[in-house]
Amino acid sequence: MGDSIYQFDVIVIGAGHAGTEAALAAARVGAKTALLTTNLDTVGQMSCNPAIGGVGKGQIVREIDALGGAMGQAIDATGIQFRMLNLRKGPAMHGPRAQADKRAYQAEIKRRVEEQPNLSLRQEVVEDLLVEGPGVRGEGPGDAQAAGHGGAAACDSLAPGPSTLAPHIRGVRVRGGVEYRAPAVVLTTGTFLQAIMHTGEAKTAGGRAGEGTTAGISGALERLGFQLQRFKTGTPPRLNGRTIDWAGCQLQPGDEEPRPFSFLTERIDQEQIACHITYTNQAVHDLIRANLHRAPMFSGEIESTGPRYCPSIEDKIVRFAQKEQHQLFLEPEGRRTQEVYVNGVSTSLPRDVQDAMFRLIPGCERAEIMRYGYAVEYDYAPPDQLRPTLETKRVGGLYFAGQINGTTGYEEAGAQGLVAGANAALAVAGRESLVLGRDEAYIGVLIDDLVSRGVDEPYRMFTSRAEFRLLLRADNADRRLTPVGHAAGLVTAERMDVLRRKQTEIDRVAKLLDNTREGESSFTQLLKRPEVDWQALCDRAASLRDVSRDIAEQVQNDTKYAGYIARQKVEVDRQRRLASKRIPTGFDYAALGQLRAEAKEKLTRAEPTDIAQASRIPGVTPADITLLMAYLDAPVRRSPKDTAQPTG
Ligand code: FAD
Repeated sequence: MGDSIYQFDVIVIGAGHAGTEAALAAARVGAKTALLTTNLDTVGQMSCNPAIGGVGKGQIVREIDALGGAMGQAIDATGIQFRMLNLRKGPAMHGPRAQADKRAYQAEIKRRVEEQPNLSLRQEVVEDLLVEGPGVRGEGPGDAQAAGHGGAAACDSLAPGPSTLAPHIRGVRVRGGVEYRAPAVVLTTGTFLQAIMHTGEAKTAGGRAGEGTTAGISGALERLGFQLQRFKTGTPPRLNGRTIDWAGCQLQPGDEEPRPFSFLTERIDQEQIACHITYTNQAVHDLIRANLHRAPMFSGEIESTGPRYCPSIEDKIVRFAQKEQHQLFLEPEGRRTQEVYVNGVSTSLPRDVQDAMFRLIPGCERAEIMRYGYAVEYDYAPPDQLRPTLETKRVGGLYFAGQINGTTGYEEAGAQGLVAGANAALAVAGRESLVLGRDEAYIGVLIDDLVSRGVDEPYRMFTSRAEFRLLLRADNADRRLTPVGHAAGLVTAERMDVLRRKQTEIDRVAKLLDNTREGESSFTQLLKRPEVDWQALCDRAASLRDVSRDIAEQVQNDTKYAGYIARQKVEVDRQRRLASKRIPTGFDYAALGQLRAEAKEKLTRAEPTDIAQASRIPGVTPADITLLMAYLDAPVRRSPKDTAQPTG
């Protein structure tokens, strides 16, 4: 079986943003990996906005890059407009963002997947999951195989517990009946699980315009005992740029000196394309208000929750009724297309209302819609069913990443994919897993939020979600994460060398500042003053003028924020002490008599691995944590259930 074209170490289902990073990561770690996806022409497709990054999200892309992922280099190669957002705020808030040439981005991701050693990309529709182990009944469409060795499986009353006792994934079955086998499977099917698209009264089955839905996997997950819930999201219409009156809109150029996303990209050389801005007005709002009953979200047709921070235009008109206008960004979808994405009017209104709406928007009065906006409803699996490695608690070797976990956004998906793919490969190789702390990475914050707190609306990253923002800057992602990625086998020697050279140069320049003086003060002390910046130092010392922008930025941030960073590190140490108090796997909270019922229920469901994670679970109070710690700290600690069990 070892050489079979259907036998792998890791199988990844779905080649969106999560799936491509997952497959690339697994292959980089050394696993023989298969990436199975319904359509090879939609690998890495941007379902919605043709852009990467933004505040919070841009930091994630830098982290993916620092861990050897593809997203940063792909957007550097195919971006058409680069902007650093929030430049007027402190460095913790800077968010790199770039408009992509959508087709070129997708082709670049596909090329990287195709060229990756250890990775086979195949066009397949996965219809079932093959699982074997205790509690698994073969009841799915693949019973013939199930009788012998697991097969498409149903599970009843599986108690969550240590992964060694849980059922284990054995592979997948694809359309046509062929089985692929692997001890680890990463599921990244995005918005495609039992998906329904809505444009006004019209409903179509499918997870993205022009594509179908994935029902078989939802069925398999339900039979295995996974909880599934519904979310919704929407996308705006695309216009033909030839029919837009650009003179009637405001110009929005990119940055004069575009900054790359990847730590390996030296410069962005390609020409940048301008975006434009226009606005809605009262006439548009009146039109929408008059047609709200035809919007599925308001007619009660769609009841599931959508992204609060990325509302549809219908939502905005109702929720912000006092606002006289809403800003719309006209964003080109590429260099060789006239298609323009209208950022700000995500909608599920019927086609005739969408047409009429643009007649009233300045610059768009004669614009032709090339693709109508729509909303999509889909299944997601509440992510508190996952371990911090993104392996499911119910089925060993089965990992979930991306929109299936209730998140939204390419960056959030890519980050989870990278972690899930790496962990799948590391587990197969019997190596230590990759779990990033909240103090190490936005990716750590993202995954901890998902597995500890779950989600009640589509989750996207904001800087406000991170308590150690000053440590998690976009500019220092390589210094934080590249060594971690290298230890896991995710990062090439070349990338590690780039980092080592950079660190040496940072140390040299920091020493130079220490040793250069003006009067009583060293340059390091001068730089700490709010009114002194790098340029002011360069004006005083010619030796600093050839220091690169990147190095200057690192030294400046390290110096200026040293006090704040030191304070954040004290809190990090406190959290780490809590995290070092491990909770034994399978710990029986129900038997801890004094614990409140709600805490018992929440802790049993979340299965935290340590006290720090337990303290972040909603519904668990500081008093519950004190009680739990007292129990775990007791000199002779016993399992509440089994008094003979040694301390864990
Ligand atoms: P996807 O990119 O959806 O990739 C899933 C992949 O799985 C696809 O390649 C698909 O072909 C494949 N697949 C599915 N089923 C199977 C199967 N059975 N077998 C094999 N392959 C399979 N995000 C935002 O941040 N802001 C927005 O405003 C926004 N609006 C959106 C609007 C719409 C209409 C849609 C569809 C998505 C929107 N998104 C938005 C979400 C964004 O597209 C996703 O967050 C991101 O693409 C998720 O990445 P993913 O890898 O999890 O899934």
